[in-house]
Amino acid sequence: MITAERKNFDEIRRMTDAHRHVLVVGCNTCVAVSLSGGEKEAEQLAAQLRIARRRDGIEGSVKTVTVLRQCENEYLDSISAQVGQADVVLSTACGIGPQGLAVRYPGKRVAPAMNTNMIGYVKEHHVWTEYCVSCGFCVIGFTGGVCPVARCAKTLLNGPCGGSQNGRCEISPDVPCAWQEIYDRLAALGDLDTLARILGPKKWNVSNSGGPRTMKKEGFKP
Ligand code: SF4
Ligand code: SF4
Repeated sequence: MITAERKNFDEIRRMTDAHRHVLVVGCNTCVAVSLSGGEKEAEQLAAQLRIARRRDGIEGSVKTVTVLRQCENEYLDSISAQVGQADVVLSTACGIGPQGLAVRYPGKRVAPAMNTNMIGYVKEHHVWTEYCVSCGFCVIGFTGGVCPVARCAKTLLNGPCGGSQNGRCEISPDVPCAWQEIYDRLAALGDLDTLARILGPKKWNVSNSGGPRTMKKEGFKP
């Protein structure tokens, strides 16, 4: 899932203090599961803002509403009335949320309440780790199901590098070496022969390095 963490409260205030009516919009999918921007967290942020603004003599209101997903217009349509009354809309979704709101409501100021981290795998309860950077051309069929793009610090397609020590990456003893994990997985599967094949240059033009991407389902009829 996409994970995000709430911004520093002072930064949120710098984006909203000049505006009289604030609408905090929660998102009840990814950021709700990662306990950072769902309905409960949006209401907590709104309450915190109300207290701080009242203390500082800022007049106006801080209201809140939550949609199932801010990345789809059909959910944003349902909050038109609340958005219409706000001077600034503060989104607790990932980075798509405030941008989606800006597209759907062109005359409205929007602000992000979150910093978006990554596409995370739930490693253990309340711990997420980055397993995919959506590179557009998946190679894990040749690497034992372990992603060298997201999980190797050097994004090596043919590893390991000389810094791999005792199964750990040279960047930190806390970080597993992705290529050790690839080796271990392939060994357990009896597929070590796969490592004899050199992975050639990767298609990076389908990654974000080639600019913003668009996906279109051909032949789809709603
Ligand atoms: S190779 Fe690319 S698409 Fe596949 S898991 Fe890694 S980053 Fe994601
Ligand atoms: S030690 Fe392993 S994970 Fe770290 S950069 Fe080298 S090959 Fe990649």
